[in-house]
Amino acid sequence: MHSFTINTGSGISIHDITDHVFEIAGAKRIDDGVCLIYAPHTTCALIINEFEPNLEQDFIAFFKAVIPQDAQWKHDAIDNNASAHLLSGMFGPSVAVPVRNGRLMIGSWQRVLLCEFDGPRTRHIISTIVSND
Ligand code: ZN
Repeated sequence: MHSFTINTGSGISIHDITDHVFEIAGAKRIDDGVCLIYAPHTTCALIINEFEPNLEQDFIAFFKAVIPQDAQWKHDAIDNNASAHLLSGMFGPSVAVPVRNGRLMIGSWQRVLLCEFDGPRTRHIISTIVSND
């Protein structure tokens, strides 16, 4: 198991963590397996998608549209971040990528993205590789 930290931006932001994940996967010389990337948090999520500036803005607009920021959520009485919890629950804390010959089998336009819904925060990302060798 490996881990690294990412300092996120304010409010909702998206961070490309692919290079961190690649470093981890490259360190393990396995022929065949799966790399699990996991965020042990309740107000962010991991997705795999293209990381392009216009699409980044579209994703942020989409996140805000899916969960209205001004809704009256009960959890807001505790720490005013219910929308971040709901988005995190919707998209989930992990992604998995096949590994072959020591490298991630990620598509040419795919990136591993950390979606921050309640920044700024320091996020810990855990990665582990399960080998089929
Ligand atoms: Zn909360």
